[in-house]
Amino acid sequence: MAVSLADRQRRIAAHNSVVGALVDIDDTLDASSAVAAPGPLAGVTVVIKANIAQQGQLLSAASAMLTGYRAPADATCTARLREAGASIVGTSNMDEFGMGSSTERSVYGATKNPWDLSRTAGGSSGGAAAAVAAGFCDAALGTDTGGSVRQPAAFCGVVGFKPTYGRISRRGVVAFASSLDQVGVIAADLATTAAVATAVIGPDDGDSTTVDNPLADLRSAVSAGVTGLRVGVLRSIVAADVVDPAIRTALDDAALRLQQAGATVVDVDVALIDQAVAAYYVIATAEASSNLSRYDGVRFGPRAAGAGLADMYEATRARFGDEVKRRILLGTFVLSHGFYEAYLLQAQKVRTKLTEAFRRTFDDVDLLLLPTTPTLPFALGDKLSDPLAMYVGDLFTLPASLAGLPAISVPVGLSAPTSTSPSLPIGLQLIGRPWDEGTLFAGANAIIQPTPCPYADLP
Ligand code: GLN
Repeated sequence: MAVSLADRQRRIAAHNSVVGALVDIDDTLDASSAVAAPGPLAGVTVVIKANIAQQGQLLSAASAMLTGYRAPADATCTARLREAGASIVGTSNMDEFGMGSSTERSVYGATKNPWDLSRTAGGSSGGAAAAVAAGFCDAALGTDTGGSVRQPAAFCGVVGFKPTYGRISRRGVVAFASSLDQVGVIAADLATTAAVATAVIGPDDGDSTTVDNPLADLRSAVSAGVTGLRVGVLRSIVAADVVDPAIRTALDDAALRLQQAGATVVDVDVALIDQAVAAYYVIATAEASSNLSRYDGVRFGPRAAGAGLADMYEATRARFGDEVKRRILLGTFVLSHGFYEAYLLQAQKVRTKLTEAFRRTFDDVDLLLLPTTPTLPFALGDKLSDPLAMYVGDLFTLPASLAGLPAISVPVGLSAPTSTSPSLPIGLQLIGRPWDEGTLFAGANAIIQPTPCPYADLP
């Protein structure tokens, strides 16, 4: 890549304390080790989200519950990056355990958006997206349970990609909601995204949900073109007055670009897509309440003092942040006797029906086009006191998560500056058929408008 390791390290040293993208920096790396490393990612600098294990490094998931905990081994995706020759320059900030859409709910404090330091970088992989936008690295590994790779990528003007569920091993990734959790890639351009994704995709004996399905050559897929493809635009959900006008205009422009590039563009609807927020926040909290029961002061992280066992559990688990506690309570509620049928079972039915609706839609089209987010990056603190407003902002990313479909967010331009805000990045999303990541990259290349962040040019 064009920017040297030493230059990346200089930028991190000069600017990370302002942006707050990285929570741990590896300054033992030097250029000789980076250049000597062979492999397809030689010279590529990456950061890894704080919930993905790097052997011997702090694995905190941005939670006080894991303060001081060091990973005993690399996650499979981390090991694959190293084998491919990438240089891991740091660990990126996130919302605690991946629960959030703004990277404000972190034991390390909030990450700031490099486009406007008064705004959030999105979340929960906000540190990863901000690091790429600020020029700290070429790429990042994040996790996406309900949009946490795609949404911060959109807010920071970079590419965010999650493949089909089962493509990338979750071994060594801190669990949030296992049936939804995925590893994804953030980078400034499609070629780098494709190269990093290719290095980490593939079956793994350490994660029984991984699948050995053929993968298109993503790097050549980028330039395959869209002639003959049918693209469905989810225009009706965008008509809702919750969507920023700049994002609606960007969607129309992108549809036109696809058409000019040879695709057939039609309007489509996917049944039940408007139920995704409700279904997700039942299923994800149920799975989280179960996954997070392991933080009991015995097996991981620090133990608080208590008079007896129950006291010790209570004092230890009080370390969770407010949002994590809210989700454990909600999840425990929807799993409990008498409420399971009313909530979790219904949510699972919605998930199945939504997945079927996608399958039917993909009988007629090859790709779906929709926004990644309803709004432009919002101000720090704006949604912290209103959890529902934060959840509703996920409405466009949750459907692909529930259905396990591959999806990508690409930057398509900037909003016009106003008296209260500078130009801010706009991201649009494409969703593809299961296992068809190649078509996704071809479509993405037809709509992407690379938007380098001015912050990356600071000395
Ligand atoms: N914002 C969503 C949530 O808070 C998604 C998070 C994620 O993908 N990790 O659950």
